[in-house]
Amino acid sequence: MVQADSVAVDTWTVVGGRGDQSVDGPLNVPPVLASNFDLGSGRLYSRDDATPTWEAFEELLGGLEHGEAVTFASGMGAIGAIFDLLPVGATVALPDDCYQGVAGLAEAGGTQGRWRVVRVPVGETAAWLAVAEQADLVWLESPSNPLLAVSDLPAVCAARRKPAALVAVDSTLATPLVQRPLELGADLVVHSATKYLGGHSDLLLGAAVTRSGALAGRLRERRTLAGATPGALEAYLATRGVRTLALRFERASASAAALAERLASHPRVAITRYPGRPEHPTHATARRFMGGFGALISFDVAGGAEPADAVCRSLRIIRHATSLGGVESTIERRAALPGQAHLPPGLLRLSVGCEHVEDLWADLDQALTRTEAPNARATGAPDAHETGAPGEA
Ligand SMILES: *Cc1c(COP(=O)(O)O)cnc(C)c1O
Repeated sequence: MVQADSVAVDTWTVVGGRGDQSVDGPLNVPPVLASNFDLGSGRLYSRDDATPTWEAFEELLGGLEHGEAVTFASGMGAIGAIFDLLPVGATVALPDDCYQGVAGLAEAGGTQGRWRVVRVPVGETAAWLAVAEQADLVWLESPSNPLLAVSDLPAVCAARRKPAALVAVDSTLATPLVQRPLELGADLVVHSATKYLGGHSDLLLGAAVTRSGALAGRLRERRTLAGATPGALEAYLATRGVRTLALRFERASASAAALAERLASHPRVAITRYPGRPEHPTHATARRFMGGFGALISFDVAGGAEPADAVCRSLRIIRHATSLGGVESTIERRAALPGQAHLPPGLLRLSVGCEHVEDLWADLDQALTRTEAPNARATGAPDAHETGAPGEA
């Protein structure tokens, strides 16, 4: 059988997770729709013992990250299981910009007195190194959602820390094609497979991957006890999605790089945030260890919320919808979401999909050009603390 570390990552996306292929077996592990099994089969009940379909996805993703994957019903299912490992009174270091569900989970546990949350600016590596020495969980998300700031993962994953402390990296926006945090010293890498791994906006699934068999065992125990188990169809579809991950992600990333350049010089755009642009505040950090810059762009429409909403309404190809990582491009004004009022009001997060780049550009350009800039003053530089990108045009 082929080993994940003996082939290129994009080869593993195709050959991994096919189970124990006997000569006359099917090429794909089918969706095994079963809650319980014959008692002689070695499995009893799928919440305890998994199904062959999740195990195929775990073998595939584990190989991509060079660790042991434990899959959950959603990204938040995996993240919740990790937070549940914390002792009462723990200290959690959390980026100032991260997925709002994670911030909500951490803040809710803080309010209940389960742990203490310390927010740290993504790009301030010295502050991360200092907090890592006291934290029980160092939570990193890179690139961050939605400001697309890149953490210095090589430095922070290798930081000095308390013996039982965990460093976890939410690598959803990067995918294993672009960065592998376990190789940099992280204890856990987390994916919302709902996004690029699945890639078709038709499922919810998540996973945590680790090189520690003991940690994987504790997460499986949490999954069994809390019941955040994946469905067989979701695991099957996510496995199928990963088969084309490299093709989709390379296409979308190349288009994103081209669109980011054009957006940056569009008169209706005040700020363009894309880690691949040399002007991006954490571009130099990203270049040191990332194999690519991803397919998300956040940009501020000049004039704020109203013209940004008008752009979303005027788009014809790009869908006005939340989430990211699908074959179809999606856009949304993040500050319009509950709990996101701290974001720049005109910030649009664009998830670039697999359509032709010239069609995407024509769509963006017509929507931006139709949008009246309400007054020239409103196109001025936003507050530096909000953007993380002072001076970027
Ligand atoms: C979507 C997302 C999550 C949550 O994943 P679900 O599958 O929606 O539960 C976590 N982190 C990041 C960065 C995400 O984009």
